[in-house]
Amino acid sequence: MKTVNQTSAGGIVRKGSLWLICQHSQHKGWVFPKGLVGDHEKNESLESAAIREVEEEGGVKAKIIYNEPVKTFYRYQWQGVLINKTVYYFLMEYLSGDPKNHDWEMMDAKFVIAEEVTKTLTYDSDKEAFEKILKDL
Ligand code: ATP
Repeated sequence: MKTVNQTSAGGIVRKGSLWLICQHSQHKGWVFPKGLVGDHEKNESLESAAIREVEEEGGVKAKIIYNEPVKTFYRYQWQGVLINKTVYYFLMEYLSGDPKNHDWEMMDAKFVIAEEVTKTLTYDSDKEAFEKILKDL
C-alpha cells in the first residue's frame, strides 16, 4: 500500500483553569485544534502552523508558553493510502477571541475544565498528550 508521512502541529490552549477542545466536522471526534504544517505557506515552522491552526479551528489567538512540543503519532487509511501522521502539540495560553468563531473544519469549539477534557477527547494519543502537558505545568 502507498504510504505518506504527514506532519501536523496544534495547540493545547489554556485559559485560566479551562482548556480548548474542538469537535471535528467530518469524523466528529473531539480533539485539540491542529493541522498540516506548510498547508498555507512553504517552509512554515511548527510554531507558526500551531498558532495558525488554533486561530482557524479554535477561533482564538493564543501564544506558546512552553517551547518543547509534545509529539504524538497515529495512522489511518484514506483512499487506499496509509497516512502516518506525526502531530506536535504546543502548550499555549489564550490571548483573545471566542471559540464560537471556529471555521468550518470544526463543528464545535469550547473551553472546558481539565476533567472534562479527559472525558471528552476521542483519541488515546490526544489524552496522553494532555496528561504530559499537565505534568509539565
Ligand atoms: P489535519 O488536522 O492534521 O490536517 P485532518 O483534519 O485532515 O487532519 P485527521 O484529524 O487526521 O484529519 O483525521 C483523519 C482520520 O484519522 C480520521 O479517520 C480520524 O478519525 C482519525 N484520527 C484523527 N485523530 C486521531 C488520533 N489522535 N488517533 C487516531 N486516529 C485519529
